[in-house]
Amino acid sequence: MWISITDLPPEGRTFIIDEQSVWTAPMHEFGISGRILSPLRGEILLIPQLDGEVCGCVVRGRLTGKIARPCDRCAEDACVAIDSSFEDFEPFPADDSPDDEDKNLFSDDAADKEIIRLKDGTPQINPEALLWEEFLLSLPVKPLCRPDCRGLCASCGQNLNLGKCSCNQDEGDPRLAVLRNLTLTPKQ
Ligand SMILES: [Zn+2]
Ligand SMILES: [Zn+2]
Repeated sequence: MWISITDLPPEGRTFIIDEQSVWTAPMHEFGISGRILSPLRGEILLIPQLDGEVCGCVVRGRLTGKIARPCDRCAEDACVAIDSSFEDFEPFPADDSPDDEDKNLFSDDAADKEIIRLKDGTPQINPEALLWEEFLLSLPVKPLCRPDCRGLCASCGQNLNLGKCSCNQDEGDPRLAVLRNLTLTPKQ
């Protein structure tokens, strides 16, 4: 969804984006696991800045919704509520020279090209790409199903939130269990 910035009125225009594939398609593409619990919705105001030294587009918006991601400790569903407000300025790219073949696809430059570009001299902005970036920024690095999640037993894999397993856990740090079980074989 590319919007020509020069077509926007000076006071800007608000776009409502609630097509779930805006998020689910790239999640699938980049292998980000997650399930939508309540629909994601983006509201985004684009205000063109066409005069002055630095031209670009002011972006003001809010992203809401709720998704389930695998808990960092036990891999069960961790509910992630998303409600993030953002404001940013996207400057026009310097030129519309063709993509450098050697460019790393994951560089900042490449990511910016998904958001703002010059198409035949006309600056265009992609609010869906902005909302995808905002979605990524709002995901917790280590989602937890609950703050005190006990995780999985390192030896048998039992989900310790559901009860104790029969492994011997009465001593020491469970993370050292693997070391305690080591058998040292003398060198021949
Ligand atoms: Zn958990
Ligand atoms: Zn166990």
